[in-house]
Amino acid sequence: MDNAWENFLEAIASLMAKFLTDKETEKVINGFGNFQQRLQRISSHNLNRLSFEITQSQRRNKCKHEGKTCSQNVTRGFLKTWVVAYLVKYAIAVLPSILTGRIAKNPSILRKSGGSDTIGFAFFLSSFLSAYKAILCSMRRLRPDDTSDHLNAFVAGSVAGLTLLLDKNKSRRTALTLYIFTRSIQFGSSYAMMRWAEYRVAKKAAGNQVRREAVKMSAVENKALVTKDGWDDILAKVLSSSAATALMSITAAVNLYSCILEPDAMPRSYYNFIMQHSGLPQKFGPMFPPLVETFRSQFRILKDGPPGYENIGIPAGVSSHNFIAENISPNIATVIPKDIHHDYQCCAMLHPLYGCNRHAVDTFTGEFGRAIKMYGTLNLIITLAFQHKKLVNEPLSTAKRYTKSTLRSCLFLAVYVLAAFYVPCLSRRILGRESNLNYLLNGIVAGFAVLIEAPGRQMDASMGVVMTLYQNEPNMINKHYLSVLTRAFGRN
Ligand SMILES: [Zn+2]
Ligand SMILES: [Zn+2]
Repeated sequence: MDNAWENFLEAIASLMAKFLTDKETEKVINGFGNFQQRLQRISSHNLNRLSFEITQSQRRNKCKHEGKTCSQNVTRGFLKTWVVAYLVKYAIAVLPSILTGRIAKNPSILRKSGGSDTIGFAFFLSSFLSAYKAILCSMRRLRPDDTSDHLNAFVAGSVAGLTLLLDKNKSRRTALTLYIFTRSIQFGSSYAMMRWAEYRVAKKAAGNQVRREAVKMSAVENKALVTKDGWDDILAKVLSSSAATALMSITAAVNLYSCILEPDAMPRSYYNFIMQHSGLPQKFGPMFPPLVETFRSQFRILKDGPPGYENIGIPAGVSSHNFIAENISPNIATVIPKDIHHDYQCCAMLHPLYGCNRHAVDTFTGEFGRAIKMYGTLNLIITLAFQHKKLVNEPLSTAKRYTKSTLRSCLFLAVYVLAAFYVPCLSRRILGRESNLNYLLNGIVAGFAVLIEAPGRQMDASMGVVMTLYQNEPNMINKHYLSVLTRAFGRN
């Protein structure tokens, strides 16, 4: 769970927004309003002028943090964010171990989770938000004549981004950057697609106008104006309907390929995280690193050698244990049970305990169990945070929805991992040789697992894979995402 905290990023953002709703701010503003009205009723000349000056200065100011001066807005934002970020980060670190009962075995989690890392993270987040607020307000003062706020917000966001340096945790820094980066690509592409759609609609309208006039000129009455989809409309449809699957396939291929063949190209924590899903580190413990290392070196030898079963397979009747002990490594042979025969050398090293089919079943069920723990916990947190009202009013349908979406996500993840580990077993049979292609193909196939997810979530699931192997309750989060941003940043 330690390395997997990145999965909770979106949950952090959503929960944060939940607690940052500016209800009490609104109350304060209303209070101010009432007070001002009462003052006006008393209607002393001086008070009137005072109230006039207040409204005047507000009118001139482009800031939207009503009821607070700029410096109040910044300091309050800082303190509030710090407290909320600390509490949410702490809760998210502690909740899974409370729910799984691990806390009883290891109560020090309670203390450790509140340590310097959490303090530092909260400090980074509050610095980021308050720097954004401060720079935005200063920019407005510096450029009072500019009516649009775009450049101000852009500069504020860019400069505030530098506070990322305050976060001491390097892997989190990478994850955050990736997260923001992938998100901005997603928003950027949606925006581009939207503009393109608008452009096509406008073009079509213009075309219709021309045709309508042509019809009028030729004096042919009641001729229906049939507008067929142009090539660009079809392209747009194909792009938007297959984008999620394509993105998923590409990223899965890149991830799995580098995980299996170029592990040095990946961040260590990410590598470990993906490998956990193979179920192998849990089974082999300290023997796991030498096992994959031996696999890699043997794979390279076989890849450059001649193709054909007689070169990459294990002869019939010879046990994998004996074959590996004699030809590859006696040390690695110790993890392979004596009575098992694998058809291929690489299979023997990638799944030493079982044959290909038994291993496939084992991978699927194992990952399904892990996914239930993961999605189950996460969906529970999110249901409690966002749907507690529904939970009280319609407990049955909420529970049904919770179960359905959890199972769906688990099935998606289990099929993904199954494809990742089973496709090479199949493709080396078909190709009859060891090739890098085996480990690109599995990702491409695995990517199609995203079709199991609800259509509205597919894109989010794929975006999540850019950063981590899987994504938590993307649908809920997607819906909340924009309001999260507004709430987290506040009305500035
Ligand atoms: Zn301001
Ligand atoms: Zn196999």
